[in-house]
Amino acid sequence: MDSRRDMMTGHDSENESDKVVRRFVGGGGHSRKKMCRFCSDAEFVLDYKDGKLLQLFLSEHGKIVPRRISGNCAYHQRKLTISIKRARNLALINPIGLNL
Ligand SMILES: [Zn+2]
Repeated sequence: MDSRRDMMTGHDSENESDKVVRRFVGGGGHSRKKMCRFCSDAEFVLDYKDGKLLQLFLSEHGKIVPRRISGNCAYHQRKLTISIKRARNLALINPIGLNL
């Protein structure tokens, strides 16, 4: 409010610019919310034969990343879990989770 008046009058404009605090806009919160990658990206197809893809959803200990962290929807998380277990059986991903 005051800065607008200063711009009009031309007084203390330098002083005002010094006072300007760079405010970080919070991003609205919408962008922060994780989307299910399988739902949002059509090319991101869940495939138990794709070890690299499944690796994205595994922790460094080889555990499946929980849904609240990965952001997957319930449907795809379920599919993902099945795929990871299948891939483990086929030794497509390391069962202990060491990235070799
Ligand atoms: Zn989904």
